[in-house]
Amino acid sequence: MRSIELGNIEIHALADGLLRLPTSFFPGLDAERHSDAIAPDGKVHVPTGAYLVRGGGRTILVDAGFGPREIGFAEGGQSDGVTGSGGGLPVALAEAGVRPADIDTLVLTHLHADHVGWVAPHGVPYFPNAEVVYGEADWAELVETSGRHDWTRISLEAVRATGQLRPLHGDVELAPGITARAAPGHTPGHYVLDLVSEGRRAVLLGDVLHTPAQLADPGIRSASDTDPSLTHRTRQRWLQEVEGTDTVVAPAHFPGLQFFRITADRVAEPVSAVPAG
Ligand SMILES: [Zn+2]
Repeated sequence: MRSIELGNIEIHALADGLLRLPTSFFPGLDAERHSDAIAPDGKVHVPTGAYLVRGGGRTILVDAGFGPREIGFAEGGQSDGVTGSGGGLPVALAEAGVRPADIDTLVLTHLHADHVGWVAPHGVPYFPNAEVVYGEADWAELVETSGRHDWTRISLEAVRATGQLRPLHGDVELAPGITARAAPGHTPGHYVLDLVSEGRRAVLLGDVLHTPAQLADPGIRSASDTDPSLTHRTRQRWLQEVEGTDTVVAPAHFPGLQFFRITADRVAEPVSAVPAG
């Protein structure tokens, strides 16, 4: 497990699963220029998972992985060519010494299926004591438009029924030094989590950055961007804010769920992790 300490906050990267996306999922991705982004099977492999944030008496989970399921393996894959599976999050949480009931806040950067997998598998809330916060604009865009049997819809409606849901608008300080900041584009209600402790800062970027190739080529899009031009502006704004600083960033899908700092010339430098626990 990769972990960092940031002042009196600990952040742990928790793996859940893997998505295999066709290169066509990333319009603008030049397969020759970014050959390192493409696996031997010709697809772009992206991990899914979550980040655990502990400090100041709070136990916060950011995103909830893909969940205990598989997609796209039957009949040679779905028509869009995406395959994926998840299920590792409970073991990763246990390794961090945390039980699902310990999570007091679940921050969903957005309501795409690969971020809400463990919210309520099959309609049973997995984090019974967590307030579930999300950007309100995602509900109409991604929940209401989905089918009745859709994983995301079943999950989100389950935590609405238990009274756990709390929609966010604008920037919201969730705890001292822990602020959810609106970062729309990838989805209308996309958020990042901004963490500051003892003068150090980390930003959990969600899908503001989807692949390391976007550092060199910020114009590379994702087929799942709701508003590609707003996504691009939001990505540039965040890159400009963190590049050349000591701010640690953790995008949701970078290889190995590593922690990075972004250099002034936009190279992602891994930040060495400290042992967990
Ligand atoms: Zn995602």
